[in-house]
Amino acid sequence: MICLFPGSFDPPTMGHIDLVRRAAKLFDRVIVAVMINPDKKPLFTAEERVALIRRCTADLPNVEARSGMGLTLDMAREAGADVLLRGLRGEGDAVFESQLAAANRHVGGIDTVAMFTSPEYSYISSTIVRDVIRHGGDLKGLVPPEIEAALAEKAK
Ligand code: ADP
Repeated sequence: MICLFPGSFDPPTMGHIDLVRRAAKLFDRVIVAVMINPDKKPLFTAEERVALIRRCTADLPNVEARSGMGLTLDMAREAGADVLLRGLRGEGDAVFESQLAAANRHVGGIDTVAMFTSPEYSYISSTIVRDVIRHGGDLKGLVPPEIEAALAEKAK
């Protein structure tokens, strides 16, 4: 079973990487897809985001990261993924994610598997991490140690 985990990952957080690590135990392959949204100006380029994800999943042979544009389900099809993977932090995510899952099943005939966040990471979002980076705050515990230094460097 192959899953495609799509998202912005701008930047990847402790919550994202924890989810990937847990999914790697459940799926034969996990493909993390950094989706490029031409309407948004990201803090990190797609290449940077892919490199950060690779850096903190280097010990997991069944995890890969790549970037893509367009419809997630087209990317899933091209990658040979059986299902999409998404993370749920709480009720807000659940409402949005259920709509997204229904749309992807309707348009692309692909199902979504959702996994709950680990409670200790439930408050972490890329938006919060970007704010901390912008204001020079301590990233400890918000992003994996492997990418803390890379993000601090970028913030300078
Ligand atoms: P998007 O812009 O597509 O929502 P994100 O990069 O914000 O992309 O998130 C990608 C996926 O990771 C989403 O399914 C989101 O719910 C999930 N996610 C984000 N933060 C966490 C977290 N702290 N714990 C678990 N899942 C998370």
